[in-house]
Amino acid sequence: MMNRRQLVRAGAAGAVLLARVPKVLAATYDLTIKGGRVIDPSVELDAIRDVAIAGGKIAAVEVDIAGEATNTIDAHGKIVTAGLIDIHTHAGRSKDGPALVLQDGVTGWVDAGSAGADDIEQVAAVARGAPQIGRALVNISRSGIVPDGELHDINHANVALAKGAIARNLDVVVGVKARLSNNVAGANDLEALRRAQEAAAPFNLPVMIHIGQSFSPMRAILPLLKRGDIVTHMYAPAPNGILDDQGRLLPDVAAARRRGVIFDFGNGVTGHFDWATVERATKQGFWPDTVSTDWNVTSKTTGVVDFPNVMSNSSCLVCRLNR
Ligand SMILES: [Zn+2]
Repeated sequence: MMNRRQLVRAGAAGAVLLARVPKVLAATYDLTIKGGRVIDPSVELDAIRDVAIAGGKIAAVEVDIAGEATNTIDAHGKIVTAGLIDIHTHAGRSKDGPALVLQDGVTGWVDAGSAGADDIEQVAAVARGAPQIGRALVNISRSGIVPDGELHDINHANVALAKGAIARNLDVVVGVKARLSNNVAGANDLEALRRAQEAAAPFNLPVMIHIGQSFSPMRAILPLLKRGDIVTHMYAPAPNGILDDQGRLLPDVAAARRRGVIFDFGNGVTGHFDWATVERATKQGFWPDTVSTDWNVTSKTTGVVDFPNVMSNSSCLVCRLNR
C-alpha cells in the first residue's frame, strides 16, 4: 500500500519520465552531416560516418544517424574534419583575410609577423574582428615585413618597441617572428634572433623563425632556439637548410627537435620548400610537427591556394597517419 507521500513522489518521478520520453523517441539535432569521410586524428578515426550537431556541439558520430535534424548536409564524396588551425598565415594583413580563410575551413589562424611594433595595432584589430580565432606574431623588425627585407638595418630590430607592442596586445600576440633569409637579414640574422628572444622572454612567448638561404648556418641558428620555438619553412632548399651537402639531416636539427623545437611546413611560394628536400628529409624520418600555408590574400593565384590544398599537395598529414 502506498501512502500519500509515496504516491506524490511516484507521480513526480512519472512526470519526469514522461517529460523525457519525447526527447528520447524523436532525438532532434540542429544539423546532421551525412555520409562523408570523417577524419579525426585525435581518436584515430578515418571512415565514412554521419555527424550530428546539437547546441553547437558534436552530439554523435555514427555509421547511420537516424534522428531528425533541422538541417542536413549530404557529404558523400567529401571530407568532414575538425576546423583547421593554420599557424603561419598573413591573414591579418587585410580585413578580408579572416573570412577568406574561414571558407577554406580555417577556424584558427596566426598571422606570422606581417606587422612589427609600428603597425601591429592594425593586425591586432583584424584579429579581434575575425569570425574565428585570430592571433599574431609581432615581427622583431618594427616595420614588419617589407619586400626588400626588414632586417638589413639591425636598428629596426628594436627590443623595447617590440616589448611595448606585445604588452599593448597581450590578448592577440602569441609570439615573435624573425625572418632570417639572407635577402631579409643578411649577416644580421643571429643578432635579430637574439633580439627576438629578448623581446619574447619577459612574456614567456615562443619565437618563430623563417629559415632557408640564410647567411648563417643552422648549427649557429638552432642553439638560439628554446623549447616551444618554431622553425617554419622547414624544407627550405640550400644554402643553409636542414640537410648537409650530401642530403643528410644535420645532427643539430635532430637535436633541436629532441629538445622541443617545433618544425613547421610553411608552404609559401618558390624558395620556401622543394620536393628534393622534402623527400630526403622524410626518408630520414624527419616529418613536420605542424603543417601551415604561409597564406595571404593573393594565395589563390600563387600556388599556395588554401590550407586543404597544402594538406593534400604535401600529403604530409596523410603520410604521418599511415606510418
Ligand atoms: Zn610568412
